[in-house]
Amino acid sequence: MISVNQAKNLLQSHIIRGKINELPLGETIGLFLGEDIHSPIDIPFFDNSAMDGYAISWKENHAFRKLRPETKIRAGEMDGLSLGENEAIRIFTGAPVPKGADTIIPQEWVKIDDDVFSFEIEKFEKGANLRQRGAQNKAGELIASKGSEVTPGMIGLLSSVGLKKIPVFAPPSVGIILTGDELEELGNPLVFGKVYDSNGPVLKSYLDKLGIKIVELTKAVDDPTQLQNTIYSMIEKYDILIISGGISVGDYDYVKGSLENAGVNELFYKVKQKPGKPLFVGQRANQWIFALPGNPASTLTCFNQYVKPCLLNWMGKENPWEPLGYFPLQTEFRKKPGLTFFLKARLINGSVEILPGQESFNLISYGTANCIAEVKEIDEYLPSGTQVAIYTW
Ligand code: AMP
Ligand code: MG
Repeated sequence: MISVNQAKNLLQSHIIRGKINELPLGETIGLFLGEDIHSPIDIPFFDNSAMDGYAISWKENHAFRKLRPETKIRAGEMDGLSLGENEAIRIFTGAPVPKGADTIIPQEWVKIDDDVFSFEIEKFEKGANLRQRGAQNKAGELIASKGSEVTPGMIGLLSSVGLKKIPVFAPPSVGIILTGDELEELGNPLVFGKVYDSNGPVLKSYLDKLGIKIVELTKAVDDPTQLQNTIYSMIEKYDILIISGGISVGDYDYVKGSLENAGVNELFYKVKQKPGKPLFVGQRANQWIFALPGNPASTLTCFNQYVKPCLLNWMGKENPWEPLGYFPLQTEFRKKPGLTFFLKARLINGSVEILPGQESFNLISYGTANCIAEVKEIDEYLPSGTQVAIYTW
């Protein structure tokens, strides 16, 4: 059995990256850039006004101009106007600044008497309220780096420079096999001996959250032949195979043998951790195969700690293995040494509350947890205030 750190190191030394695809900008939210992005153009594309006001050419100690009558430059104006000697021209936010103007005086600081324009000169300086061509970025400038997440803000930036399609790492396709004779579908009444399938919805929604859209869920009963056939067919169809249950040492746990038959190379089996000890991870050519113990807390924790970072590596994210940070425990915590504990927890106002109900069948604490806290293998007693690593969803 290997330690959590050994397991994570093994996964990080076997990274698989997805292909880079050009996708329409609107389909890229939550994905990661496959290349550095350089702006094709200067932005702003032309000098323009940052205010509703008047365009002038700055002259020291000179607060008077003649207002050009009946001229108004509005946003969208395409005629290139020029400012006359000692003149002010009415202009609105976003409108192109006339040639020769270098300063915009906002309308609330201006007095106009019979076309004589004056302003409070001590409140301004040359260049005020004018957005210069290229002030955001010059053509050719690096504006976003490979591996950065496409956020709503990033979508704004890339739209502003006119990019309709961008290169992103394509998310993998994922097949999920849920094993267990006892599993009942949501919507059916629960009868003696059965449990509702919660791992299926957990895995599907987690993949949704990561922006992974091509997902097929299928069930397999605990029968070696049927399980083997399901694995053969799913492993041919998808980049990544996730199996829930059937990976521990019970008489009906057939997953490991079936994966070996399907040509999966084991990276590790069993990790010194709680929950999720009998975790199996393997590869087959450019595929990941994860077999997660079926206990609901094990499935969720193993996904969070191992599957998610591997998927994010595939999708090009930089450093997906890093915890959010280290935060102090609200109260003391005791455990036996020998296993790393992953605890359902709440991070509130910078401190960590370990929630009651940590058993691996118990999902109550998962209903309220906003993070997972890691307590190391060697640790036995952590006084309150001890810093622990925190992982968010
Ligand atoms: P296993 O890993 O197959 O030995 O299952 C361990 C425990 O997890 C058993 O109590 C199962 O009933 C439960 N379990 C397995 N799969 C699921 C699932 N999809 N949803 C909820 N519980 C499950
Ligand atoms: Mg089972």
